[in-house]
Amino acid sequence: MPELPFALWIALAGVLGLLVGSFLNVVILRLPERMAAGWRQEARDVLELEPDETPLPPGIVREPSHCPQCKHPLSALDNIPLFGWLLLRGRCRYCRASISIQYPLVELLSGVLSAAIVWKFGPSWAALAGLALTWTLIALSGIDFRTQLLPDQLTYPLLWLGLLLSLLPMFVAAPAAILAAAIGYLSLWSVYWAFKLLTGKEGMGYGDFKLLAALGAWMGPMSLLPIILLSSLIGALVGGALIALRKHQREIPMPFGPFIAAAGWVWFMAGSGLLQGYMQLTGLR
Ligand SMILES: [Zn+2]
Repeated sequence: MPELPFALWIALAGVLGLLVGSFLNVVILRLPERMAAGWRQEARDVLELEPDETPLPPGIVREPSHCPQCKHPLSALDNIPLFGWLLLRGRCRYCRASISIQYPLVELLSGVLSAAIVWKFGPSWAALAGLALTWTLIALSGIDFRTQLLPDQLTYPLLWLGLLLSLLPMFVAAPAAILAAAIGYLSLWSVYWAFKLLTGKEGMGYGDFKLLAALGAWMGPMSLLPIILLSSLIGALVGGALIALRKHQREIPMPFGPFIAAAGWVWFMAGSGLLQGYMQLTGLR
C-alpha cells in the first residue's frame, strides 16, 4: 500500500463507501425483483404452464439509473451519492416525485461504516475484508427490511468468504470458524423449531440461520451468544420504539436480519473491547 496520511485513508474509504452505497441501493431494490421473477419461472416450469412472456426485471449492473416514477434517466450530477439527493431535496428533477429517503440513508451508512472500518484496521487486507463484510450486511439488511428476505445469493458468499479467510487465518482460525458456522446455524434453527412447535408461529426464517452462520465463520464461536443478545436488545429497542410511535403493528412480523447484521457489525468492530469491559465490570478479571 502506498504511503498516505492516515486521515486521508479514512476519507478515501468514506468516499468509496458512498459510491458503493449507491450500488447497494440498486442491489436492495433489484435483487428481490430478480429473485421473484426467477421463482415465478420455476413455478410455471413445475406446473408445466407456458413460460411467462413478461420481460425480466432490469439487471443489477447493466441498467442505468432512472427515476422510478417517470423513468427519466438520471444525470451524472443527480447520481452523486448523498449529495445528489440533498441537491434535489428528495424530489425528482423531472416529475417532482419524491425519492425515497432509503437512497441517501444507505449511502450515508455505507460511507460512515466504511470509514470506520479503515479507521479501525488501517489500510490493510483486513480492512478490505471488513469492507466486503460491511457492504454485504448493509445490502442484506436493506433487502430484509423491504421484503423480509435474506437472499442466499448474499448469505452464502459471506459464509464462504469467512471460511476461506479463516484459512489464512485473518480474523479467526479455521477450526473456530467452521465450528461457529455450524453452531450459529443450529442454534437459531433449534430456537425456530421450538418456537414453532410451542406457538405454531414462525419467529424468524432460514435466512437468519444462514446469516448467523456466516457471522460465526468470520468471528468464531465466542461471538455467537453476544451477537444474539445484542441483536435481541437492538430489536427490542427499535421494535418498542416503532410500536410506541404507532409506526408498526404488533402482529406484523418484524425482520430480524437487520438486527443480527447490526449486532454482528458492532461485534466485529468492538467485540474484544466490549468483552474486556464486561469482564472488568463483573469482576471476572
Ligand atoms: Zn421522475
